[in-house]
Amino acid sequence: MRIGVIAIQGNVQEHVNAMKRALDMAGQEAEVIMIKHKGLVPTIDALILPGGESTTLGKLMEKEDISGEIKKVAHSGIPIMGTCAGLVLLAKNGDDQVKKTGQSLLSLMDITVNRNAFGRQKESFECRVDFKGLDSPFNAVFIRAPSITGLGECVEVLSEYKGVIIAARQKNMLALAFHPELTDDPRIHHYFLKMIRK
Ligand code: GLN
Repeated sequence: MRIGVIAIQGNVQEHVNAMKRALDMAGQEAEVIMIKHKGLVPTIDALILPGGESTTLGKLMEKEDISGEIKKVAHSGIPIMGTCAGLVLLAKNGDDQVKKTGQSLLSLMDITVNRNAFGRQKESFECRVDFKGLDSPFNAVFIRAPSITGLGECVEVLSEYKGVIIAARQKNMLALAFHPELTDDPRIHHYFLKMIRK
């Protein structure tokens, strides 16, 4: 099994480490690779789109021609987890900021995002949140986090913070507004691992 992390920008190594902890937890083995160029996405069994800066990430993924490859594997059912900026990129619809900047989204999940939902004063914070499928709260780290402001019928809400949607799943796609890779708790990466049909 091979798990890829888009490694163009953002929290890459943290995701690689978190995935290795989750593999240990599951007693499974897999290769975790960093993807910087075209050609690797079609070879993987699961993909992580990390946090970072969604405009930059989106532009560079298009330039490298990785975006098209991601869309293809997403439609074939490969699990994809987007965290923070990764959530923004998975969305079909963006807020005014996204529209104004003409930011290109992968449009893979039927969700609408508010790109910087938690404002400037609160750029970073941590909070324990309930997460559907986990038996106790998860310590979520928010860094200039987006939120999900709208969703289609096929999207399931997995977590909310003060009434705001911060995690959702649509079939093989998982979107998180926070950064599970920045904690020692591997349970969300483990949850993602269970989405791989192998
Ligand atoms: N809100 C940021 C963006 O849209 C993402 C922040 C993050 O990934 N930590 O680019």
